[in-house]
Amino acid sequence: MSSAAPTLLTPGPLTTSLRTRQAMLQDWGSWDDSFNRLTASLCEQLLAIINGASSHHCVPLQGSGTFAVEAAIGTLVPRDGHVLVLINGAYGKRLAKICDVLGRRFSTFETAEDQPTTAADVERLLNADPGITHVALIHCETSTGILNPLLEIANVVAKQGKRLIIDAMSSFGALPVDAQETPFDALIAASGKCLEGVPGMGFVFARKDALAHAAGNSHSLAMDLHDQHTYMAKTGQWRFTPPTHVVAALHEALAQYNEQGGLPARHQRYTKNCQTLLDGMATLGIRSFVPAAIQAPIIVTFHAPKDPRYQFKDFYERVKAKGFILYPGKLTQVDTFRVGCIGHVTHADMQAAVNAVAQVLDEMQVLDI
Ligand SMILES: *Cc1c(COP(=O)(O)O)cnc(C)c1O
Repeated sequence: MSSAAPTLLTPGPLTTSLRTRQAMLQDWGSWDDSFNRLTASLCEQLLAIINGASSHHCVPLQGSGTFAVEAAIGTLVPRDGHVLVLINGAYGKRLAKICDVLGRRFSTFETAEDQPTTAADVERLLNADPGITHVALIHCETSTGILNPLLEIANVVAKQGKRLIIDAMSSFGALPVDAQETPFDALIAASGKCLEGVPGMGFVFARKDALAHAAGNSHSLAMDLHDQHTYMAKTGQWRFTPPTHVVAALHEALAQYNEQGGLPARHQRYTKNCQTLLDGMATLGIRSFVPAAIQAPIIVTFHAPKDPRYQFKDFYERVKAKGFILYPGKLTQVDTFRVGCIGHVTHADMQAAVNAVAQVLDEMQVLDI
């Protein structure tokens, strides 16, 4: 890999360590015992991160994160189920679309993109419609970087005897969730986010009894997590061709995660990255979109400069030429851009990115921030 490769300040794929990339230099036979042991070790380590070994299974699935979300909904929501989808951004909308495409009955509750859903909202909605069987929530809504109050919502959902499905794609591994304290039927994440693996597989932590009762729910063969789990439990193998190199890279990324101090250390590094970014951009006059109290240390949305000389594409290319890949905004109403805080990067990289942004705004003669 060229040393001139830019640093990815994006929500995934993201910058990975050389050691993680080097783990992909070996080929693996999918029937081979050593690969099966790799998969088993991976699942065991992933479950340990949420303290979930006693209550949940880890079911890995080929594909991007959305494949795992779709598989979780299709497998764990019975065909006559009814999902309440909590929305405050693009990933929440995607959850609703998945329910729609799969033909699961669903209702939506949408708050503004800078407004977390509250437990009180959920309690009121569940009281108003006793037919709801499942609630689906995005933990960190990556389209803005907003954090939703998972524990409070999970407690309300459990108290009402309903089941919770959590898309924790962009928070898993960096923000703590304890499966023995936070009741949920499914928590979904993927290889290429805060664990700093490469993209290519997702995984679902599925409550053991919920998964055991999920046979026949899925509309799809390839996306059936019950089938995937049953086969894997019996044979140690993935049902269909596994993403072998992705598994090996994630396994190596997890070894580094644990050596570095696990979740607390990852959380601390990302928090420092985020704070360095916020402070640095503030000195340039660039304002963040999400209020500090609900900003997750994952990705930050910034208001684009008002100056007509600012064009995202030009800005992006110039910052890239200085070594950093930023991310476009995903808001419909406001012009924004995003900068990720996750990946194999430190606060020094964030400061260097801020310096690059400062130089670029100067080059572009952007004055009206
Ligand atoms: C990244 C992400 C996903 C999955 O996106 P893919 O492009 O399918 O990998 C889902 N939900 C959230 C909140 C995410 O950040």
